[in-house]
Amino acid sequence: MRSENQERYIKMECGHCKNDVSMKVVVDELPVPLESTHHGDGYYSSLKAYYDLLLCPACKEVTLRKHLWDDHLEPEVEYKILYPQFIGATHNLDSNELYHFPEKVRKAYKAALTVKSIDANAYGVLLGRTLESVCIDQETVVKGNLYNSLQEMSKKGKIPDKLFSIARRLKDFRNVGAHAFMGELTEEEIPILEKLCQMILSYLYELPMLDRNSEQVLDSLKKKNAESR
Ligand SMILES: [Zn+2]
Repeated sequence: MRSENQERYIKMECGHCKNDVSMKVVVDELPVPLESTHHGDGYYSSLKAYYDLLLCPACKEVTLRKHLWDDHLEPEVEYKILYPQFIGATHNLDSNELYHFPEKVRKAYKAALTVKSIDANAYGVLLGRTLESVCIDQETVVKGNLYNSLQEMSKKGKIPDKLFSIARRLKDFRNVGAHAFMGELTEEEIPILEKLCQMILSYLYELPMLDRNSEQVLDSLKKKNAESR
């Protein structure tokens, strides 16, 4: 038995900030009885689910995981992460999905989301800044010019042609927001600006994760099916 006061840490990748960290175990194996089985000779074994709540020291977000245990199971325990889970491509300020983005991009995007409901022009300008941060992150900055940098990203094959044309359009919207002589952005354009930016961020930062996660899910499904054969 572990002593009640002893703090436990678990090394793993945080699903929020993607850092490899030592998670502090805040709730340690909270047991939830599921079923009892009678094995004859008056012997019972009970299946329990155990829940762990882990705290990331880097982003201060929590992870909830679960494993099953009964006396007849193999000693190898399989943990299932219940939270955080990958969700689709809509972002808001409270969303954990922002943590999938690199620090610089996240900061710029968060700033844009903050002004979204206040000023459409400022939103457009800060989305442009988000795009610039993406170019820095992808190491495709050319002459400090956003158009050239996006073109470089496309040339290097980091984004497909369609996405380049989307990024270019977002840059054009940004220009309208930035220069009073060109007119102004209004509330009406906000949803389209939002979609354009989400598409780019999702492609670059969420798609690779979905690729990884779905591979893991498929692998464990194959394993499970092989075992039950
Ligand atoms: Zn974290």
